[in-house]
Amino acid sequence: MFADSHLAPYAAQSAQSKGRRFHEPAPASRSEFQRDRDRIIHSTAFRRLEYKTQVFVNHEGDLFRTRLTHSIEVAQIARSIARNLRLNEDLVEAISLAHDLGHTPFGHAGQDALNACMKDYGGFEHNLQSLRVVDTLEERYAAFEGLNLSFESREGILKHCSLNNAKNLGELGERFLLKRQPSLEAQLTNLADEIAYNNHDIDDGLRSGLLTEAQMMEVDFFARFRHEVEAVYPGIGGRRAISETIRRMINALISDLIHTSEARILDLAPTSIEDVRNMPAMISFSDAMYKEAKLLKQFLFQHLYRHYQVNRMSNKAKNTVRDLFNLMMEEPGLLPPDYQVSAQHGGDDESKEVRQARRIADYIAGMTDRYAMREHRRLFQIEEV
Ligand code: MG
Repeated sequence: MFADSHLAPYAAQSAQSKGRRFHEPAPASRSEFQRDRDRIIHSTAFRRLEYKTQVFVNHEGDLFRTRLTHSIEVAQIARSIARNLRLNEDLVEAISLAHDLGHTPFGHAGQDALNACMKDYGGFEHNLQSLRVVDTLEERYAAFEGLNLSFESREGILKHCSLNNAKNLGELGERFLLKRQPSLEAQLTNLADEIAYNNHDIDDGLRSGLLTEAQMMEVDFFARFRHEVEAVYPGIGGRRAISETIRRMINALISDLIHTSEARILDLAPTSIEDVRNMPAMISFSDAMYKEAKLLKQFLFQHLYRHYQVNRMSNKAKNTVRDLFNLMMEEPGLLPPDYQVSAQHGGDDESKEVRQARRIADYIAGMTDRYAMREHRRLFQIEEV
């Protein structure tokens, strides 16, 4: 059995996991959460992250973040924070690496389009889809469908969930209905995600030329560290100045999060993970840092995520997803056999339509950017096979 003796009493302990949906003997040479992490790394959905994007579409450049490198950056930040707070590093790593598995191709544009297509069929939520990937869609083990992850990993993966969907998720959905918190590991991974994308989107935005350094200087948080870099390395410019600025920003966010959370934990004094679940959220930025991060987000939203060149690509991405969905709903015979819902499954025509829509959403959500583009050409251009 793996001892978690170095962990705080309120951390997630592998030996006290709430367990897996299908019982399995405890692993011999690793902790339960290491096993979760290992299963995620070996999954098909994890490999697809390499060709899925957040802001930029995969073919736009080789140096931009993909969902894979994003997830690795989240894991790095989350582990640093976890070690400082004596929380479970293996668990935060598992949650980080799995948190985006359910994302559609083409980032938020793809997700919005698929959600709109699924409006009459229960909608599409990427967090719920990440859970569906690890619970159901991965086909790797003889004894069960999905990856059969521990409750704690699944709790962390399901960051948000509508109340309607929460009702169908048993114990996992309870916290949304009862307004309880997840583990500290889940709370911190959520904020590590934010730290990662806010900073790497600045980096990618500057690299792409959609943002300029002069524009970034309008954001106090950036300007302050850029001036600090100039003071230490007078005359420095270009990529190194940007990297030196961004590493300071990441560091400031992580330090603030650690210190603020430490104080909150001390104040609320949880003695177990169950206390954590019943108490208010403890992992947070200070009010001052929260405000700075919010201004940065607003800036990125306005100047990067809504940049006209990004809008153009997002629009094409939405049309691609919509075309694929509508055509496949009209002509399910075009789907690969695994995704065709047959009448043998029982139920009336309406429930068959709902199940077919869900399978099409699974198929589209599983596509990488380039696969979705290729599939679109194959289905709409007669020259393509
Ligand atoms: Mg993310």
